[in-house]
Amino acid sequence: MTEQNPQTVFVANRGEIALRIIRACRRLGLRVVCGFSEADRNAPYLALADASICIGPAAAAKSYLNIPAVIAAAKLLGADLVHPGYGFLSENAEFADAVHGAGMTLIGPKADVMRRMGDKVQAKAAMIEAGVPCVPGPDSVLPQDPDAIAGIADEIGYPVILKAAGGGGGRGMRIVRDRASLAEAYMLTRQEAQRFFGNPDIYMEKFLEKPRHVEIQILADSHGTALWLGDRDCSMQRRHQKLIEEAPAPGIDRALIAEIGERCAASCRAIGYVGAGTFEFLYEDGEFFFIEMNTRIQVEHPVTELVTGLDIVALQIDVARGAKLPLAQDQIITTGHAIECRINAEDAETFAPSPGRVTSLHLPGGPGIRVDTHIVAGSEVSSSYDSMIAKVIAYGANRDEALSRAATALGEMRIDGVKSNAALHSELLADPGFKVGGVSIHHFEHWLTAKE
Ligand code: ADP
Repeated sequence: MTEQNPQTVFVANRGEIALRIIRACRRLGLRVVCGFSEADRNAPYLALADASICIGPAAAAKSYLNIPAVIAAAKLLGADLVHPGYGFLSENAEFADAVHGAGMTLIGPKADVMRRMGDKVQAKAAMIEAGVPCVPGPDSVLPQDPDAIAGIADEIGYPVILKAAGGGGGRGMRIVRDRASLAEAYMLTRQEAQRFFGNPDIYMEKFLEKPRHVEIQILADSHGTALWLGDRDCSMQRRHQKLIEEAPAPGIDRALIAEIGERCAASCRAIGYVGAGTFEFLYEDGEFFFIEMNTRIQVEHPVTELVTGLDIVALQIDVARGAKLPLAQDQIITTGHAIECRINAEDAETFAPSPGRVTSLHLPGGPGIRVDTHIVAGSEVSSSYDSMIAKVIAYGANRDEALSRAATALGEMRIDGVKSNAALHSELLADPGFKVGGVSIHHFEHWLTAKE
């Protein structure tokens, strides 16, 4: 769709996702403009935008997280829509309000829906109401009375996990294995929740010992259509940070996935959700348990794009502009298998970030290989941001082919000037447990311990 007076999308993000959004805007014939920090001033992707403007210093709090600066830049560059990408302000309801207040459209759900889903207790209550299975435990904040708390834990059965209602990024959680340690754990988690998230509310659920992380991608328009675009397995994680993602999740009954997918789509209709989103689940012993919803595009969306053939970012922009989704659920057909390796600029042994200048770069290619990166030879990897510098994504007719292509691609990849975890990914792809498929969220840590 090319237009005579195209609308303008402001990219309120940086790095590979900023480039991904620029590409989607080009596909849609939209003008696209970017805000950048002083650290990103020379980033080559900025030249691909129609205009760009500095929004502040390197520190994210003063640039990519600075709501007045972002809004002012978007207005100055004539934006009609704002794409928040992932991270930064993407799940900030105050930002959603500010975008709306400045007369622009946020590419994402409405602020009140974002607020509700951002509170894990409220999200859980909404999911229970919509018939989405959740981790056993009350859909309410814990009372402060120690006896009442102990009673709830007894009812759920140990081990339990205490979680901050306003939590995120894997923080504000504590596992409790017996009654003796409950009271202290409660106090500590509450203090942490207050400190990190400014909200001391805590809730409790059953702690699952060896779950997998399986999630459902959804896409909903403002005309009442909500679709689920399949599942992803993101169990290969280090400290709750995803390392490898794949679609579909290996070895899970497709009828069960369809049932869960339908429920996620139905709950989107129930809460009036518009945009792309992800329902995250723990999967253990053949059962799904909802843990949280992400109300934004995710890092791992490309694996779903490769198996469905859809451009999720373009569709996400279209529905924000009021378009009807151009397809029905029975037209979403998943074929083959896709796998994504997150390449981080970091030390392979200590996992410490490795900022610096990329002196030379060779990216892989060939059949079934897609590389999403904003990095070129000469790029400066800043210590101010996330250390992910590229996503190597491989598609195959089946999981074996996808794994084999991913391994070949990682072998081709050369990055000089900064350290990277590319070789670690090669080792992980060759791990017999991972090759079989269906490892738990603790697999990586176990693998690492065994290696040492
Ligand atoms: P965050 O928003 O901080 O990422 P999540 O609720 O998504 O928090 O949980 C992050 C991770 O913590 C999960 O991927 C899982 O590894 C672990 N986790 C959370 N809840 C449970 C649970 N009930 N049982 C076992 N592990 C859990």
